[in-house]
Amino acid sequence: MFWVGSEAPIEGIRPRYWKPYDGKVPANDRVDQVLAWLDLPSAERPRFLTLYFEDTDSAGHADGPDSPAVREAIRRADGYLGRLLRGLERRGLAGAVNVVVVSDHGMAAVDSSRVVVLDDYVALDEDEVVDINPTLGLFPRAGRGDPVLRALSGAHPRLTVYPREQTPERWHYRDHPRIPPIVGVVDEGWQVVQRRTILDVAAGRLRPTRGQHGYDPQVLSMRGIFVAAGPAFKRGVTVPALENVHIYNALAQILGLMPARNDGDPAVARSLLR
Ligand SMILES: [Zn+2]
Repeated sequence: MFWVGSEAPIEGIRPRYWKPYDGKVPANDRVDQVLAWLDLPSAERPRFLTLYFEDTDSAGHADGPDSPAVREAIRRADGYLGRLLRGLERRGLAGAVNVVVVSDHGMAAVDSSRVVVLDDYVALDEDEVVDINPTLGLFPRAGRGDPVLRALSGAHPRLTVYPREQTPERWHYRDHPRIPPIVGVVDEGWQVVQRRTILDVAAGRLRPTRGQHGYDPQVLSMRGIFVAAGPAFKRGVTVPALENVHIYNALAQILGLMPARNDGDPAVARSLLR
């Protein structure tokens, strides 16, 4: 149910039920759809269901992570979860379903005083910039790779750029053909943008951003949440911080599936489970 990527076929296979993402569908309707799938006859009923709510992300970008708007968004998300749990209870499923709550990233406060303007150092056309703010993904045109890298290396003390072969090992971000040949990132709380973005904000065509994510995952403000409950999980335990990549193995074990090849540590998955 709007889980990021669930509308894409993976090796030609889609979930049995999926919907193209539509941010206008109210969150409570999303919860009700998941509950309706659980009401299907057992042969048609899915065993693994996902939900996505963008409230905290949207509020964080618009007003910043420490804003009353984010507090309100968290309160709303808590309400959606409450609706789901009440729905499970009403169906007599509360003790049978494992519920896992995660976020895909944290949020750092940003403001217009900490901005690196890309155009100050190098002229790039739109097709060359495939990702920007706070990470930078550049596909320079043929022959421009070295000059672009030279122009940006050391250009601004808050911007770090790498040829993709030299990105930090812990990012696991070197080998896939879709990873841009030049990758950059600014320090926590900084932004990297093109000048037209600044002009758009000044002219009121674009809302200013007060929260951003995508910084180095070692930055504490990038951490998300992990809460899990249900018959498969240990009770009343606080586990050390873990990377989301480890959750896959836990879910595979709960579902009785042989996990596909992945970078998760099965020992971390086991530490969560009974
Ligand atoms: Zn976001």
